[in-house]
Amino acid sequence: MAHTRSKEPSASFANAEKCTQCGYCLPVCPTYRVENNELHSPRGRVSIILALRNGGLAKEEAATILDHCLLCQACHAACPAGVRPGKLALQLRAQAPLPASRFSRLFHAITDRPRLTAVLAAIIRGYQRSGLQRWLRRGRLLRWLPTVAHMEAMLPVASAIGSVPLLPAPPSSAEPQPRVALLAGCMTRLFFSSVPQAAAHVLHRWGNQVVVLDQFGCCGAPYRESGDRARLRRQAKRTLDLLHDSGPWQAVVCDSSICAVTLHSYLRLFGGDPIYEDRARQLSAKLKTMSQFLAATPPPVRRKKETFAALAYHDHCQARHGLGIITEPRNVLRPLADQLLELRQSDSLNADGCCGAAGEYQLRHPERSQAIRAPKVQVIQEQDPTVLVGENPGCLLHLAAGLDQKGAQTAVRHLAEVLYEAYCV
Ligand code: SF4
Ligand code: SF4
Repeated sequence: MAHTRSKEPSASFANAEKCTQCGYCLPVCPTYRVENNELHSPRGRVSIILALRNGGLAKEEAATILDHCLLCQACHAACPAGVRPGKLALQLRAQAPLPASRFSRLFHAITDRPRLTAVLAAIIRGYQRSGLQRWLRRGRLLRWLPTVAHMEAMLPVASAIGSVPLLPAPPSSAEPQPRVALLAGCMTRLFFSSVPQAAAHVLHRWGNQVVVLDQFGCCGAPYRESGDRARLRRQAKRTLDLLHDSGPWQAVVCDSSICAVTLHSYLRLFGGDPIYEDRARQLSAKLKTMSQFLAATPPPVRRKKETFAALAYHDHCQARHGLGIITEPRNVLRPLADQLLELRQSDSLNADGCCGAAGEYQLRHPERSQAIRAPKVQVIQEQDPTVLVGENPGCLLHLAAGLDQKGAQTAVRHLAEVLYEAYCV
């Protein structure tokens, strides 16, 4: 069926028109690698955008096909012509948002509200630490409820560092220190409940006055991913208001790299807005992930002298390809390990590529998501680091579940947990 020509922003089409169909992007695209299907390659996605422009596809049809893109941005670096297939897919979703499932709506009704998030986090923490999780898993009691079992398998076990005490308030006579806001992502608060306080202790050891902003709700990452601009703007305004009202800050540090990607995207969201564009610009100038922030300053003296036998860092694809975060986490981790391993490249694996989690993609497309994860899990098993470290909670959940299924020995931990153990205990 033919359709009228779309009124998509011409800049997106201009970018798509630069595609020469050379195919350099194909080997780096995780969906193409697992399916060998041109429709699910960067080049195929560009063709969908151009078909939309030519009136051969409706916006909704195009959005449904482009929903299969992970938004990992690996193709951006590979394209010699400067085409941005991941960005184009994201822009189209803003024109035709993906429908939200009932589970997703319910989950976000909680994560949008910091108090409800704290209640759910306490329930999950109790489940992890009471022994109930171990008991249910050992007895395989959830095998009769496959959907619940699938969701439960994604929950990590209780953190190895246990509960972390609250950071004491600095004495009034203390030397002035840089005032740093710590934004704890809703996924870290929910599933890695030791991480926000561990991160606060680590930042404090690095010589900062740290304030954990408990009123921070969801940054809007799931809404950015699905194209729901109205809810993304709402969450962005809440975050910008919170930082403005509680400031001034020397730095804003985020313990979740997808939150950092989303917080940086606020700038494009509020172009021309007399208040929020300026607030978004100030945030972008001060915002760092933990590894970015810590790598810029020499580390303090370590409390724990022994080192990990082997650490490996898992790159969150959007942080690596979008924010260029590559060396910082490695520089922070190197002093803590006898060996800092790089995951091995193979015919079936782009070692720095997406793990298949991609936010709610792992729920929308579980089979493909697990197929993308499989070679990464295999390489981790073969190289066998003591700990796989990361800064994006979605990736950590997804990889931990995959390694657990395979009975791998490697622990999966957030960067803040590893640094807390080395510098603060
Ligand atoms: S998107 Fe870039 S790399 Fe891929 S086919 Fe087009 S020009 Fe080549
Ligand atoms: S963003 Fe990732 S999944 Fe999407 S086309 Fe590019 S490489 Fe493929």
